[in-house]
Amino acid sequence: MSIAIIGAGMTGLSCARLLADHGRAPVVFEKSRGLGGRLATKRIDALRFDHGAQFVTARGDSFRNHLNTHAAPWRPDGANEWFVGIPAMNDLVKPLAKGLDIRFGEKVTPQRAENGWTVGGMFFERIISTVPVAQAQDLFPDMAAALDTVRVTPCWTLMVAFRKTPEWPVMWRKRETDLSWIARNTSKPQRPAEPDCWIAHASQRWSEVHLEVDKDIAKDHMLDLLRSMLGTTPEVVHAAAHRWRYALTTVPLGVSHITTPDEKALIGGDWCLGARAEDAWNSGQAMARALLSVKD
Ligand SMILES: Cc1cc2nc3c(=O)[nH]c(=O)nc-3n(C[C@H](O)[C@H](O)[C@H](O)COP(=O)(O)OP(=O)(O)OC[C@H]3O[C@@H](n4cnc5c(N)ncnc54)[C@H](O)[C@@H]3O)c2cc1C
Repeated sequence: MSIAIIGAGMTGLSCARLLADHGRAPVVFEKSRGLGGRLATKRIDALRFDHGAQFVTARGDSFRNHLNTHAAPWRPDGANEWFVGIPAMNDLVKPLAKGLDIRFGEKVTPQRAENGWTVGGMFFERIISTVPVAQAQDLFPDMAAALDTVRVTPCWTLMVAFRKTPEWPVMWRKRETDLSWIARNTSKPQRPAEPDCWIAHASQRWSEVHLEVDKDIAKDHMLDLLRSMLGTTPEVVHAAAHRWRYALTTVPLGVSHITTPDEKALIGGDWCLGARAEDAWNSGQAMARALLSVKD
């Protein structure tokens, strides 16, 4: 059975790996030039910023086993069992991609065909979509109403490098302020020690209200907030903002994926089950198992 997977984030690669481990040969289409989706690390010369997911956690054995082999613990508060990719967040998915046929730089729009779908000019008997929910509604308009209950919130992220380490806890979070998360990226394992890189996230409310502001305005505002929280700030050597339009699920679908009535397309992603990378993993695994149960 020929299978296309749209998206090379955690959902797509968790799915593709399980299929490949069972003798299938899915073709993965990814619009960007790299793996990982929101498990992302921005490189600017010597600077490294994990500007998407900050860390991952595991509740189930399946994802825990993956993390035990392919992640490192990061315990900024000395308590929680958090994991990060090393040396970058997308190293959490890179091992899944080994040997797979991945077509980068391909932003695809699947088209229905007789007995299947056409994706990127190729025919497939089954397709699996792992794009964010709003984009899935655009790609599969017939299924849009079934996904209407899902809610996803944006997140403005500040990436800032200081000449000297500020006197501030390595990690700080408080949901009710305009900056909901501050973390010293440099404190994560296998990140360069200098320059000192930090990440701050704007709150859900601030991000929603200021979704369409210019990047520099968001950057200046978040930097001002950070400065006022730190009291004094060391010299800033780099600062930039990144907007995640579809960052975190606030109301998930409640099932691991949905299937089109003809059963030729499966639609999933983290937003089916929650807001975390493990939800993406579980959605991908469930879609792979669904296809493995179909006789060729
Ligand atoms: C700011 C932020 C903080 C977060 N913090 C945490 C955290 O602390 N812990 C945690 O567990 N999770 C966190 N998350 C959530 C976590 O990153 C996601 O749950 C997970 O990465 C989702 O994986 P996915 O594969 O479902 O989606 P994505 O990572 O979004 O992957 C979808 C992929 O599809 C590609 N794509 C989209 N459209 C097309 C198209 N038409 N054609 C081809 N390719 C396409 C995209 O380029 C992308 O690579 C955070 C996310 C953000 C943004």
